[in-house]
Amino acid sequence: MGRITLDKVTKSFGAVEVIPPLDLTIEDGEFTVFVGPSGCGKSTLLRLIAGLEDVSSGQIRIDSKDATDVPPARRGLAMVFQSYALYPHMSVRKNIAFPLRMARMDRAEIDRRVEAAASVLNLTDYLDRRPGQLSGGQRQRVAIGRAIVREPAAFLFDEPLSNLDAALRVGMRLEISELHERLTTTMIYVTHDQVEAMTMADRIVVLRAGHIEQVGSPLELYRTPRNLFVAGFIGSPR
Ligand code: ADP
Ligand code: MG
Repeated sequence: MGRITLDKVTKSFGAVEVIPPLDLTIEDGEFTVFVGPSGCGKSTLLRLIAGLEDVSSGQIRIDSKDATDVPPARRGLAMVFQSYALYPHMSVRKNIAFPLRMARMDRAEIDRRVEAAASVLNLTDYLDRRPGQLSGGQRQRVAIGRAIVREPAAFLFDEPLSNLDAALRVGMRLEISELHERLTTTMIYVTHDQVEAMTMADRIVVLRAGHIEQVGSPLELYRTPRNLFVAGFIGSPR
């Protein structure tokens, strides 16, 4: 379950309205990409959904329940950050288990979830290592593992690959797409990279200055961009 609805959501920082009234529905199980130039409001929108920022007005619903004033930890969503933010002194196992230990989950259930996540992410042989003994891609997988064990209604990714080199980025793109196929959980993925958007998305939301220029499948946007901004951004020949 992970249908997310934004109803006339706005966000201002001081006197500056960064997100003018915005309506958007993200269907359960969909891989949605927010794409747009730097500063257009992608991260702000994701943080509003995550609850890391409060909306200035409007409503956010998760599975038709009003989540607007629900604190981040209770929204049932998992945010995967761009920086790995792993604990260097803890093993991979402890890093992945961390959110569950904080939630005082039963030990056996923690072990079950960590093993399952490690298996999905091909980290089973690395559970006793520390982050410093892993490659960049493996560290990114540990960060994703820490999200998976929470069994969230949706995963929120904010440019998770921007710290990786080009070759690794291509591999991780594939891994995240495969993960989505396996888990069939709603994923929202923020990027300013058109190639990532076009290759990973079920649906692309093109943002410009905080408003939605167009929403559609990669093919729809490529074939029928609504305007030159979308065409230019998607790399459509129009
Ligand atoms: P993107 O992720 O697309 O690069 P952001 O969501 O980070 O864009 O930022 C959108 C706009 O909101 C930018 O103009 C940015 O300067 C502004 N902004 C973001 N966070 C804050 C904040 N905490 N205080 C003031 N302005 C902010
Ligand atoms: Mg950003």
